[in-house]
Amino acid sequence: MLPVFNIPDRAIIAYEAIPRPSASGDHLSVVRSALAAVRHTTPAVLLVPMLGDLLHAAGIDPADLAAEHGAKPSDIAWIISSDAACGAGRSIDDRVAKLRTAGFMIAFEASGWASECHDRIAALRPDFLLLNGPVVAQVTRSEVAGAELAGLNSFGARLDVCLVARGVDDATIANALTTSGLQHGSGAYLSPPLVLADDLAIAGDAVVGPSWFRQHEPRTLATRGRSIVAPTKVVSLATSTSAEAASDGFAQTLGEAARVLQAEHDPDRILGVLGDLLQRVLPMTGLAIFEADWERDCLIPRVLAGSEVVKLRDLHFPMSGGITGWALARGVPYNCGDTTTHPAASTIPGTGGDQSPESLLVIPLIAGDHRIGVLDVWRSGIDSFSDRDLEHCALFAHVTAAAWNNAQLYRELEARVHTDALTGLRNTRWLDETAPQETARCLRSGSNIGVLLLDLDYFKQINDTGGHAAGDRVLREVALVLRSVVRTGDDVVRFGGEEFLVMLHDSGPGGALRVAEEIRATLAARKPVLNGMRVTASIGVAVFPMHGATLDDVIRAADLAMYEAKAGGRDRVVPVPAPMGATAAGSR
Ligand code: GH3
Ligand code: MG
Ligand code: MG
Repeated sequence: MLPVFNIPDRAIIAYEAIPRPSASGDHLSVVRSALAAVRHTTPAVLLVPMLGDLLHAAGIDPADLAAEHGAKPSDIAWIISSDAACGAGRSIDDRVAKLRTAGFMIAFEASGWASECHDRIAALRPDFLLLNGPVVAQVTRSEVAGAELAGLNSFGARLDVCLVARGVDDATIANALTTSGLQHGSGAYLSPPLVLADDLAIAGDAVVGPSWFRQHEPRTLATRGRSIVAPTKVVSLATSTSAEAASDGFAQTLGEAARVLQAEHDPDRILGVLGDLLQRVLPMTGLAIFEADWERDCLIPRVLAGSEVVKLRDLHFPMSGGITGWALARGVPYNCGDTTTHPAASTIPGTGGDQSPESLLVIPLIAGDHRIGVLDVWRSGIDSFSDRDLEHCALFAHVTAAAWNNAQLYRELEARVHTDALTGLRNTRWLDETAPQETARCLRSGSNIGVLLLDLDYFKQINDTGGHAAGDRVLREVALVLRSVVRTGDDVVRFGGEEFLVMLHDSGPGGALRVAEEIRATLAARKPVLNGMRVTASIGVAVFPMHGATLDDVIRAADLAMYEAKAGGRDRVVPVPAPMGATAAGSR
């Protein structure tokens, strides 16, 4: 296995399974042993080659292969070579579409610069585009290769494909790639191939145990994706004159920033504090704070101030684009005296062609080894910022970056504490801590919460037949079904071993019963999980506050109904009857 890194940041984003030429056995068994690694590589994506004719082979279902190893399809990206995809007269589109529907990702392996395959790539919409080592190595030797790479980069950005360079074997290649804007790669410079068993290792491999993967926690979409939905904050510019700003006292304001930021745990408010305080000490015509989204290779505006800058609101910029991207790649604060003549300048779409001279400070926001974002500050005129301005700005940015990073880590930790590790659903700790607020809100607004208590039928048999791992896999699948049936705002909790609690907000007896029935039917209609065994559930349905004064009371009522469903033959839904004289606030 070869770890795939974010090159500037040295975070692992995926692993690629590499078959050894000496690998014995047929293609299918090689793919099987590659898939076995998924238990170590998850939650990073595992890239697995679709060897030989497997893509076209009848009777082989990649979803079954993945399931054999307890892999979620979303943990796997199948590598499809350009020969398979661009070969004459072969239609692989249906095959690829099927893989996607099953939830897999797709990695396209380009043989050359991929330009001859652009139309195929655009049609297949892969998640990854893999560039081969010999092609990648050309970037240090030829300008044509640099231009190819730049073209590929913008092509990739448009399609939202993650470009991965193989063969990043030395620092020169790594630098040339990141300078051209390519962020992800694998190769000797980043890590040797990892091998789990001594007898498979060849010279240059690193033999590692399962703990290696735990120690090298990957950066996944899930952990960084959350903040991406946060809206951009538009703030007004301070109208202070430079004399007022100076009298505000730089040291005093920096001290205030440190004090305020220490007490602040909300990442977005932290960025707001930076924007506000910086304006007090540094007169400016515009300010932008971007978050770096390394998965999507782009910069996302978080805080904007100034009439021209506000136009950036709904735009995402390629990570390497413009003076901002150029300075972020260098990783040090930069004072640009004239934005119109800088070689990396690019006109921002939608901001008009008014090219009046401006000065710009670009300050990468760096916490530890991570470039987490970038701060831009504009002033009109050429050479309007002094080196002292740059230094002041960098100090503010430094304090903020540390606080911002801490706040994000804190959020991630908090989310983890409330998440069931096996299924990714909420856990009972979340329920205990959140239930009082939820029910209070419900009582204030006079709405209902539909409560479903679900226990899987004869689940012990699945463990007894297929082993505990098979049972765990089924639990994960059931969790996915539950999440897919309920609405986004509803809560699904793993309540116990194979018991789940679903909270349907603003849902009365009628709506809750309908959802329960849909869950039951969806589970019953799935294909057998093992030896013809299907997974069904018995579901009790109650409504807060109709069936109890507290959520606990309502859950108890749903639990009794669930036992009635068991006694009645299982695979059924039993609602708690409405108490005499009760009416629900809503009947949805
Ligand atoms: P029924 O509910 O229909 O009465 O039968 P059941 O076989 O499901 O019985 P019960 O609910 O009493 O047993 C639950 C079983 O679920 C017992 C345990 O082996 C299994 N189980 C509980 N938690 C886990 C888990 O985290 N992983 C796996 N694999 N199995 C679990
Ligand atoms: Mg049970
Ligand atoms: Mg059960």
